[in-house]
Amino acid sequence: MTISSASSASAPARPRPHRRKVLVLGSTGSIGHSALKVAQDIPDRMEIVGLAAQRSVEALVRQVAETGVKQVAVTDAQAAERARQLLPADVEIFDGSRGLVDLVKATEADLVLVAIVGTAGLEPALEAIRLGKDLAVASKEILVMAGEAVMGAAKAQGVWVLPVDSEHNAIYQCLEGRDPAHVRRLLLTASGGPFRKVDATELEHVTVAQALKHPTWNMGRKITIDSATLFNKGLEMIEARWLFDVPMSRVDVVVHPQSIVHSMVEFVDSSVLAQLSHSDMCFPIQYAVTWPDRVSNTLPPLDFARLAALHFEAPRVDVFPALRLAREAGEAGGTLPAVLNAANEVAVEAFLNERLNFPAIWATVEEVMQKHSNVEHPSLEAIIEADAWARRMAEGLL
Ligand code: NDP
Repeated sequence: MTISSASSASAPARPRPHRRKVLVLGSTGSIGHSALKVAQDIPDRMEIVGLAAQRSVEALVRQVAETGVKQVAVTDAQAAERARQLLPADVEIFDGSRGLVDLVKATEADLVLVAIVGTAGLEPALEAIRLGKDLAVASKEILVMAGEAVMGAAKAQGVWVLPVDSEHNAIYQCLEGRDPAHVRRLLLTASGGPFRKVDATELEHVTVAQALKHPTWNMGRKITIDSATLFNKGLEMIEARWLFDVPMSRVDVVVHPQSIVHSMVEFVDSSVLAQLSHSDMCFPIQYAVTWPDRVSNTLPPLDFARLAALHFEAPRVDVFPALRLAREAGEAGGTLPAVLNAANEVAVEAFLNERLNFPAIWATVEEVMQKHSNVEHPSLEAIIEADAWARRMAEGLL
């Protein structure tokens, strides 16, 4: 059993350029916007060389003007047509379902930031690895679905997989320079979401607007609902299992409503190291780009005199079954994590469209998981098949 301090490379690590050329997949989303802010803040360490979105053409056009990139991908066909009308003629546009992979192949980027919500980031991530480009991974779905394949490919190619999710980025920082044999547990912190104190009987009446009100983070809609159900933390447990090559039994969750401590590592002497900062994704994005260097920026430091209190408590696993389901899926491995992820995506979309009440999200996921015949050490095809199967099943249950 090992815990990797830097989730990479058995092949000789490739040299990392001082100024990273970064391709941002999902540039028009919440993480994408933060990535562009980081590039403005540390221009001598980060240059954006490509952008990709699904259909937010107007935002993409603004980003092209801001960054001067000459290559973009727009996966929605109609949106790509609009982009052709609006973007300067010298901007190359890759479109359709292969657009992301084609852009990864064409780009001069040495670091690909995968910040696409859902599973569409998986194939471009694998292509980036194949081409020897480092990955900065925000999209937890790709490690949840195919952690074994992604980390195995990265090791074989000697590329680095740098976590952008704030919790994993924090753990990455706490593990650096440590002997893996000295690590006892990884402790993921969770805000607890907007319903941390809400009575279980009231959960079936919560509205979409209430679930979208995250107490500490400003994020995309899918991840905000996942934070409310605690599926976000469940997905992160599985993500940690693969990123740091650690069994699920050594990944725990502690609720910390202020989101100042981003995660912790407990060592065999019962000492704990933690990473703290304001809750702004610019922190982990910058660290993934400049790692292992620390680079001065304009982000605000913590003012401990003003931090009234840092509070911790156990998660209510009986009320929010997402953590139990994720632990089950992570322990079973195989195709079950992909099934959990896909069923959850369908259920969250249905909740956002008011076709499902809030507790039915986890009820749907649990039922689909129970119906699944798990495939151990699956091929990529088997994972994609399980993902599609789970989506059909979940739709059927709705
Ligand atoms: P958003 O919903 O804000 O943005 C998603 C981005 O992905 C948009 O740019 C969207 O384009 C693009 N996209 C979605 N589907 C496709 C597709 N098929 N092809 C091309 N582009 C696509 O999500 P977030 O930024 O919140 O999250 C992104 C990922 O990062 C998620 O996996 C999330 O779990 C993870 N993450 C997010 C955090 C956060 O603070 N937001 C924190 C940690 C992890 P368009 O605008 O055109 O729809």
